[in-house]
Amino acid sequence: MAKIEDFNFNGKKAIVRVDFNVPLDENGNITDDTRIRGALPTLKKILEDGGALILMSHMGKPKGKVNPKLSLSQIREAVAKALGRDVKFAPDCMTAQEAAKDLKPGEVLLLENLRFYPEEEGKPVGIDKADPAYEAAKKEMKERQKEFAKTLASYADVYVNDAFGTAHRRHASTAVIADYFDQQDKMLGFLMEKEVKAVDNILKDIKRPFTAIMGGSKVSTKIGIIENLMDKVDNLILCGGMTYTFAKAQGGNIGDSICENDKLDLALDIMKKAKEKGVNLVLGSDCVAGNQFSNDADTQICSVMEIPEGWEGMDAGPESIKAFRDVIVPAKTILWNGPAGVFEFDKFTTGSKAIADAIVEATENGAFSLVGGGDSVACVNKFGLADSVSYVSTGGGALLEAIEGKTLPGVAAIEGK
Ligand code: AMP
Repeated sequence: MAKIEDFNFNGKKAIVRVDFNVPLDENGNITDDTRIRGALPTLKKILEDGGALILMSHMGKPKGKVNPKLSLSQIREAVAKALGRDVKFAPDCMTAQEAAKDLKPGEVLLLENLRFYPEEEGKPVGIDKADPAYEAAKKEMKERQKEFAKTLASYADVYVNDAFGTAHRRHASTAVIADYFDQQDKMLGFLMEKEVKAVDNILKDIKRPFTAIMGGSKVSTKIGIIENLMDKVDNLILCGGMTYTFAKAQGGNIGDSICENDKLDLALDIMKKAKEKGVNLVLGSDCVAGNQFSNDADTQICSVMEIPEGWEGMDAGPESIKAFRDVIVPAKTILWNGPAGVFEFDKFTTGSKAIADAIVEATENGAFSLVGGGDSVACVNKFGLADSVSYVSTGGGALLEAIEGKTLPGVAAIEGK
């Protein structure tokens, strides 16, 4: 596998899978350009070496059909501004042969949204999975996907994947395309390298003690990660909405708190496994309960085992926060995924803020801290602490799958595994 830092792009055309799936307002203006900025180190390296760039990305979910509202032409100017040079645009990603051929060193061509073609995702359209003809349609689509990837590959000499956000998908542009390049002509971009390294720090190069903090609303969506982490962590904090499934499983009265009644046995099983594996499982003992799911709720602090009817646990209480801090501050490796409460309401941010502060303190003392997966990133951004932790991942689903221990197709395709 080639390494981007060692590669000389001089005179080469590089096709780069970026994640330019940026949020747009109703007028097509970008509301957050983090993803464009994230790709810049890779793009600048290629241009400064004297290479030409062909950029490809998806935007939204057009489901294999052209949708002008999801056209990447809307971000062309922003990309040009970020790169400090003109950006040409190919309005159809399948007919860009001439435009690609004409590209000179230092020039940039942006392809239209890859997902305007169903071949990008490779899923048959307009046919139900239960239909007897589905398997044949799937097979046919896989063949079409190969042709689609081959056409994209024909535009360039080198393939770079820098889109961590889609690395958990085996799509034409994220994985299949890699088959059409020799091992020395395909590589991960700088952003992808950083993400992969951050996951390795958490799963392989662990410095102890290792504390993982899993929050959010449900235990069911986190079970794969919890199970994989159980073999690795010293301390496992389970907080947020899951707290109440555990409390109920242990016979607690949880009032109107969020609860997965079909996961009570699973909660008890997690507690048993933690004990067997010698993992210190830290569950919230008290909470801030509200009498309605709103920022205007009246609040009271109570035990998670005795929440009155008509009230629901919406944040971690002071005793829980202290217990969380006790295992976060001394930790040397920290993973945080999911808030400790309904942090969207200012009244219920205390638990999540306390976790973020404790992580920052540990990081200052030399810990490696990785924050990732949707809402915990929103949390550290809300508290202005994104620069005070070691790494904030850009990948939601991809990060979570990597932490579950799954091989990401986007990474495997480059590494030839
Ligand atoms: P997830 O997507 O599973 O990581 O869940 C994130 C969501 O969990 C956020 O929108 C939080 O508001 C929500 N959440 C955290 N704690 C609670 C709670 N105690 N009750 C209800 N929702 C919660």
